[in-house]
Amino acid sequence: MHEFTSELEELASSVLAYSLERVKDDPPLDGPRSAEDLYAQVGETITTQGLGGQEALTVFTDVLARACISTDHPRNLAYIPSAPSEHANLFDLVVAASALYGGSWQEGAGAVFAENQALRWVADLAGLPASAGGVFAQGGTVGNLSALVVARAQGRKLWPETTRWAIACSKEAHSSITSAANVMDVDVLLIDPSESRKLTGVEVGRAVDEFHKNNSARVFAVVATAGTTNLGIIDDLMSVGAAAKERNLWFHVDGAYGLAALCAPSVREKFNGIENADSFIVDPHKWLFAPFDACALLYRDPELARAVHTQSASYLDALHETNSWNPSDYAINLTRRARGLPFWFSLAANGTDAYTVAMEKTLEMAQIAAQKVREHPRLELWLEPELSVVSFTRPGWEKGDYKAWADKLLDDQIGFCPASSDKGQPILRFAIVNPWTKVSDIEAILATL
Ligand SMILES: *Cc1c(COP(=O)(O)O)cnc(C)c1O
Repeated sequence: MHEFTSELEELASSVLAYSLERVKDDPPLDGPRSAEDLYAQVGETITTQGLGGQEALTVFTDVLARACISTDHPRNLAYIPSAPSEHANLFDLVVAASALYGGSWQEGAGAVFAENQALRWVADLAGLPASAGGVFAQGGTVGNLSALVVARAQGRKLWPETTRWAIACSKEAHSSITSAANVMDVDVLLIDPSESRKLTGVEVGRAVDEFHKNNSARVFAVVATAGTTNLGIIDDLMSVGAAAKERNLWFHVDGAYGLAALCAPSVREKFNGIENADSFIVDPHKWLFAPFDACALLYRDPELARAVHTQSASYLDALHETNSWNPSDYAINLTRRARGLPFWFSLAANGTDAYTVAMEKTLEMAQIAAQKVREHPRLELWLEPELSVVSFTRPGWEKGDYKAWADKLLDDQIGFCPASSDKGQPILRFAIVNPWTKVSDIEAILATL
């Protein structure tokens, strides 16, 4: 190992001081700059002799970090932002310093044990059986893909003569489902949900049966969304799951954003039917107060996943000699960071009740924000918030007006809230996942509209 010189000792203090300051205080919102602009200020940072730790750190803290929007700022309501707890952030420093290998039980038993307890909490919230299990994958995109690859393997067992496959999902499903289908070279049967915008079993049954009548391709999985990213709409998990089961189809639930609210009693019943999922995902880095990047991927029967995802190579044989739990075997990954540990630590330290309280707080803030929009003289609520996304319009505004407003809001460092659209209509949306977002934050943004 390298000698820990006094220079490194000093650098350690600087790194810790910066990290602590970042965790303690509300971060500045900050914002992007052009590559030319950044280059003009920092120039070449990769040099033959190296800048030295202090100098490189200064380049980062003074320039580069300030060109990154703080996703955990309480007035960052864009896309789905993040809100890692102090405990989770602090423990990420420990994970970074520990060189943990999270791919196998042999090398990372303690870390894997802890991750599995955190996964168990999620599985219990959903009502999956004791035999359920999974892995923290990089993100929802990889989680969905990994689950759907297992689903297709099941389809191949059931219908070995099939040569062309398809995934059935709502038109409102996340883009990562289409992305997974592209990677897998399978088709997507997009189903138009009714007025309610929630996919139901009747619609799934009708669309799948029709598809099978007219195509040689065969549907192997039905994907329901538990909280669409744009508006937070939850499909009817109970009936969609039943329609899938009647046809022997894999039932996968994409809850990357929304399933976090399983721990909130006030909305828990909206997820009824999740207990019938063959697999589901939820991203703790979205609405469960964990840092990037962590997607909890759960399987009802993890053995099916293990059979599909285990990589075999002679140099890996020793890993599989014991009948132990290797996280690498449950997703498209081999080497993996023990990325579920910050989430585990925060859960272990704070207790699950604190999660319920924080979650209810964000849901309540969404209701308050919706009410403030209703009372606003120039705004109209677009959809009643089902979870913590509040969508609204400013009648009379064109797309360009929304963009100009959002750009100025960030320029003025008031908030980050880029426009979205729904059914061709530009909309604004607040995605509230941060328990530190206060009424005054919402008011500050609404005051500019
Ligand atoms: C965010 C999201 C995803 C993708 O997750 P990543 O972690 O960004 O890869 C998939 N589905 C839904 C519903 C999402 O909200």
